[in-house]
Amino acid sequence: MPPEVSVVIPFYNEVGNVERLFDRLVPVLNGCTAAWEVVCVNDGSRDDTLARLICAHHADPRIKVIDLSRNFGKEAALSAGLAAAAGRAVIPMDADLQHPPEAIPAMIAKWREGFEVVLAVRENRSDQDIFGRCAARAFYWIFERLSDVKLPAEVGDFRLMDRKVVAVINRMPERNRFMKGIFAWVGFRQTGIPYRCPPRVEGESKWAKLRLFRFAFSGLTAFSNFPLRVWGLIGATISALAFAYIVYRLARTLVYGVDVPGYESIIVTILFLGGVQLLSLGIIGDYLGRVFEEAKGRPLYVVREVFAETDPVDHRAGVET
Ligand code: UDP
Ligand code: MG
Repeated sequence: MPPEVSVVIPFYNEVGNVERLFDRLVPVLNGCTAAWEVVCVNDGSRDDTLARLICAHHADPRIKVIDLSRNFGKEAALSAGLAAAAGRAVIPMDADLQHPPEAIPAMIAKWREGFEVVLAVRENRSDQDIFGRCAARAFYWIFERLSDVKLPAEVGDFRLMDRKVVAVINRMPERNRFMKGIFAWVGFRQTGIPYRCPPRVEGESKWAKLRLFRFAFSGLTAFSNFPLRVWGLIGATISALAFAYIVYRLARTLVYGVDVPGYESIIVTILFLGGVQLLSLGIIGDYLGRVFEEAKGRPLYVVREVFAETDPVDHRAGVET
């Protein structure tokens, strides 16, 4: 019989959080439902995380472990977990207790009321400095204007999704897994519940600022082709300005004759246009790289071993578990 609720958790070097997490999560799940499972994905941790997870699995077989062959990144690990989760409701959450398990009963209650997606909405951003907060706000502002998909604010991966929703996500073939965008793209009847996000319990965040920026940019280009199209507009504007300038120079030459050879105007034009062209070429290159990634069609992740009584079904074709 499939479990009613699956919790999916990616682990990457979280050795200090494994026991602490289950100590809090298991009682909460027991209180909510008779049939649950926790799908843990070990995303190539270099510490003892896997051993601890296997221990937890032996102690309670409802805790299942999927060991990936190397570190594939959180988004891929989450995809692996979602593909293996069998529950009628699936809840992805972080291992570092920034997503308090105590919020789960409220989410399940909303789901039982008939909502297909229950978002956990962060009431605070305790773990971010001013710079991070501003950057996040700027990202959402730009994303909202450039993309058709609306990203709900202050919402992370912590949410409850009905089986219907998970089935759609499992079928999405794209390799650039900007989960926030993917989650928002699928739609369905959504609602939210508030929660407080405490700072990370143990270890440190795996997000360097630069990596976060790259992530934001690739999320943007995955859900909007505005950066690709905008160059036509910029090119047209610059051409129009250049044309006006040519007319002005011609008229001037006709009236006043040739004065100092126009070194500045030529060099400025060349440099400016060269810069614009390189920039637009870079943007096109970014999309081309993305097409290349998708065209290769490699699996999102590779599973080394699964620790579960019954092998979890992988709903994604062509991936072995
Ligand atoms: N994580 C992962 N693979 C990675 C990086 C992170 O599976 O390459 C997991 C990590 O173990 C944690 C979750 O993703 O469970 C969130 O990571 P983190 O706390 O570093 O992100 P933040 O909370 O800072 O966004
Ligand atoms: Mg965290």
